[in-house]
Amino acid sequence: MAIMEISNLKKSYDQIEVLKQITFDVNKNDVVAVIGPSGSGKSTMLRSLVHLEEIDGGTIRVCGENLVKDGAYSKPQKIKEITAKMGMVFQHFNLFPHLTVQENLELAPKLVKKESAADIRKRSTELLEKIGLANRVKAFPGKLSGGQKQRVAIARALMMNPEILLFDEPTSALDPELTREVLQVMKDLAEEDMTMIVVTHEMGFAREVANRVIFMDNGEIVESGHPTELFTNPKFDRTKAFLNQNQF
Ligand code: ADP
Ligand code: MG
Repeated sequence: MAIMEISNLKKSYDQIEVLKQITFDVNKNDVVAVIGPSGSGKSTMLRSLVHLEEIDGGTIRVCGENLVKDGAYSKPQKIKEITAKMGMVFQHFNLFPHLTVQENLELAPKLVKKESAADIRKRSTELLEKIGLANRVKAFPGKLSGGQKQRVAIARALMMNPEILLFDEPTSALDPELTREVLQVMKDLAEEDMTMIVVTHEMGFAREVANRVIFMDNGEIVESGHPTELFTNPKFDRTKAFLNQNQF
């Protein structure tokens, strides 16, 4: 089943086209890794999918509903319902510094008021246990390592029970050791069949965990395929050149 159907996305900044006819689907339980050089449009694409940016043309469908169809956005209430199905994890964590770890997790669910405070507390406690931070519930983000912050950010995204999680270079700000602990959490999620789109430079992760890799360059999808195929047998020179520059 398609969780996301993305077709012909177009977006420009000041007449510069940064997304050109981006088209791909994400099925339930897919782990899609998006790779490509800096400036190729990966963040803009991800931000457009969760409606942090608006596209100029194209269609984004989430769980069978139109966020935007042929460049026309759905009504605000509908957009809100659709974006609630998606969780996003950023490179720089974006935790609220004045809230504790547990408060960071509970803020959004409390705002939507769909569950009792007790149910929210139960879930946040379970999620913090799952990511190995049960002993840091009352800590403020400033007291955590980068790896711990990113694990909190992942748990916070999971609090809303998203259908799909999107990650924008979640380990790029981290040392190798901290990178490992975050990738492990993401790998565990993949094994639990979480649907994910992961923009990453971690080719090992893409190779091991993703079931599809998309290579973007200059606002376009140059090629996509199973990691084994794309990494060992890239079809295009641009893909080969990019892979040759990146040790893995
Ligand atoms: P990537 O994530 O692959 O590094 P980005 O999506 O961040 O690429 O950027 C794609 C292109 O869009 C770059 O040329 C970048 O300079 C440009 N760009 C991104 N955000 C903005 C913005 N808010 N205003 C103008 N140009 C932007
Ligand atoms: Mg980026």
